Amino acid sequence: MVLIGSDRFIEHQTPEGHPEQPARARVMQEVSRRWVERGGALRPPRPATRAELVQVHTPAYVDQIAATAGRGVRLDPDTYASAESYDVALHAVGATIVAVEHALAECTSAIAFVRPPGHHAEQDRAMGFCLFNNVAVAAASARATGLDRVAVLDYDVHHGNGTQWMFYDDPSVLYVSLHQYRFYPGTGALTDVGRGDGIGCTLNVPLEAGAGDADYDRAMRELVGPVVTAFAPELILLSAGYDAHGRDPLGGMRLSTEGYAAMTAHVQRLAASCCDGRLAAVTEGGYDLRALDACLESTLIQLAEDPPTSATSVTGDTSRIDRVIPAVRRALGPYWPGVL
Ligand code: ZN
Repeated sequence: MVLIGSDRFIEHQTPEGHPEQPARARVMQEVSRRWVERGGALRPPRPATRAELVQVHTPAYVDQIAATAGRGVRLDPDTYASAESYDVALHAVGATIVAVEHALAECTSAIAFVRPPGHHAEQDRAMGFCLFNNVAVAAASARATGLDRVAVLDYDVHHGNGTQWMFYDDPSVLYVSLHQYRFYPGTGALTDVGRGDGIGCTLNVPLEAGAGDADYDRAMRELVGPVVTAFAPELILLSAGYDAHGRDPLGGMRLSTEGYAAMTAHVQRLAASCCDGRLAAVTEGGYDLRALDACLESTLIQLAEDPPTSATSVTGDTSRIDRVIPAVRRALGPYWPGVL
């Protein structure tokens, strides 16, 4: 297991009081420091190249973000670029690609601690605190190395609209999202199942506010696990957002740190069974600093388990996922016969 991190991520500035604050990078630094102290491997990122970015972003959009260098620009009502943001964002994408390179070369888990996050960034538009779509560029880069099938799992509390649309008609990238619905950014209905050749390769599990550990566990066991297994990815990417934690000031979910660890272990077991353990994770949201610290720490511990820890039973209220499972099966079942 390898961690990719850098002190540079603190240099992306946002206005005072913004939830996606530089202090998040301090938490990442602190968790990284403890990881290294325990003997863990830490690798630096490299900046992503323009050629890598334009796999999913338009050249005009890359130019637009490049032009923010050295200035402070408000890109949308809640997304900002400061003087250093362009360069920092290049490193966030590059860190995710380095995580993929480690996962592929060593058949292991790797995680990139980055900001700004990425999954809301669209082909030609910054939004939701995101400049470049880190996980999407990394998925495209993995495909460019010759992989035929890549799965992207996203457990951030928000739906990853950018990632979904970038691969919406692409049968080689399975996008799976568990998210609060309806909630920012408004996408992620269970009827969003993909388009054209990519139909069936988008799996949305929209959950009402208040869902907790047992709801997410059941979603992983009954929906995500079977579909990912049937898709048979050669690499799993994880958009690791920790804003579904009960302490998060933006999200309305009730996941505990242990619930997140259980989900991470589930993803890791899927990687072990589908693709020789090749799992590359990248941070997304997570705005309560204490919860972020605890979740990053427990994710590192979980991902360092080799082989992955076996499944534990998660008990508790599952009423929110119980209501959604039949509807997801109706929406996706025709594309996954015998699976859902
Ligand atoms: Zn989020």
